[in-house]
Amino acid sequence: MTATLEEFRQRAQEFLAENAVPRSEPPVEWTEETLVAECRRFHQSLADAGLGGITYPEEYGGQGLDKSYLEAFNQEQSQYQAPLVPASISHGMCLPVMNEFGTPEQRARHQAAIIRCDELWCQMFSEPGAGSDVASLATRAVRDGDQWVLNGQKVWTSGAQYCDYGLCVARTDPTQPKHRGLSMFIVDLSLPGVDIRPLRQINGSSHFNEVYFTDVSVGHDCLVGGEGNGWNVAVAMLMYERVAIGAGGSGDMSGRMTSAKLTTEARKQGRSGDPVVRNAIADLYISERIQSFIGMRIRQAAESGRAPGPEGSIAKLNAALLSRQSSDVAIELAGPAGQAWDATEDDADEWASAVMTAPAMSIAGGTNEVQRNIIGERVLGLPKEPDPYKGQPWEAVPRS
Ligand SMILES: Cc1cc2nc3c(=O)[nH]c(=O)nc-3n(C[C@H](O)[C@H](O)[C@H](O)COP(=O)(O)OP(=O)(O)OC[C@H]3O[C@@H](n4cnc5c(N)ncnc54)[C@H](O)[C@@H]3O)c2cc1C
Repeated sequence: MTATLEEFRQRAQEFLAENAVPRSEPPVEWTEETLVAECRRFHQSLADAGLGGITYPEEYGGQGLDKSYLEAFNQEQSQYQAPLVPASISHGMCLPVMNEFGTPEQRARHQAAIIRCDELWCQMFSEPGAGSDVASLATRAVRDGDQWVLNGQKVWTSGAQYCDYGLCVARTDPTQPKHRGLSMFIVDLSLPGVDIRPLRQINGSSHFNEVYFTDVSVGHDCLVGGEGNGWNVAVAMLMYERVAIGAGGSGDMSGRMTSAKLTTEARKQGRSGDPVVRNAIADLYISERIQSFIGMRIRQAAESGRAPGPEGSIAKLNAALLSRQSSDVAIELAGPAGQAWDATEDDADEWASAVMTAPAMSIAGGTNEVQRNIIGERVLGLPKEPDPYKGQPWEAVPRS
């Protein structure tokens, strides 16, 4: 460690001790409203303390430091219950995309605000007819002078109910094959014609939404990465998403039970000597270590200047499998209470939520099957899936 990195780590420790609750203390109870407010406050204080946007350029509100400082900060932060989740898409996906593809004006307008969480952002890709095959999406953007007019529907838009802006991919040229003729737009979610409707999930929360666009008018200066370049921007964003979910750093969204937590529970139940329980927890611990090594490998690749590649899919797939595995061990330990728990019991909500949220991890950010396809094609060099409509104009391809 250089003296400067040491000094930086010291400042991070002081900041976190003052502004966040250690993990060793009982879980902080946040409602969605208080969590969002705390998230904004936390990141504003972080930026004021010279610790926000660590690797981003100073002229756009960052600290201009290399990734070893980010790694040091994340190590310190992982020991605290920091209110990070509402900013996970803003910071994990939208910020790096704006940094890479935004015009200088867009970056000057938004980047510092995203870092400070004065603006929270969401991503708007999926549609009712376009999830895994997101390139077939149908939301239209039509040029009208210096404006673009958006019409269509997005779905599963995480956090739209409290976000200020979204990065939205829309079809600008239906005469082109599906991957071409797409463009990425910055959409102010308070604009007339944007209708956000929360969806109720199996775990009881309303984390994501349907978003309808009816004649929503955005300026030409809201186009990110240039007209017709939306697929390249979207692919970069999906890679950042997989890395954020799989390699950590922007907050673990799964809320899963760790092997440490399950060990404590096994001891409490007097089952820590049971060989079946011991095996299950040991297997989970091994998977967690593998996941942390994958994350480390990705972060080191990023440190050496490589853009995230298909290893993001390996990390994302493994994170989803880990979530399922930890949920299975938790259910096994909970016994009958895993099917019908007493809601008044300590931690009952946390356990129920971790188990009910596990399946979402194998869908969000691209399903396990899609990650396996990517790994098969881009890592193992297997043949691509056949596409009978390859090269045909999007408007000529049948859709259900
Ligand atoms: C918690 C959560 C948060 C999300 N947040 C967002 C968000 O913020 N923004 C956003 O835009 N989207 C978001 N999504 C949507 C997510 O990206 C999609 O749900 C996902 O890409 C799958 O699309 P789909 O639901 O339409 O399923 P489909 O694509 O219809 O897939 C259905 C099934 O078919 C399988 N399948 C599809 N194609 C193939 C293939 N080629 N080979 C093998 N199997 C295949 C899939 O694996 C799946 O099992 C979120 C989803 C979840 C669960």
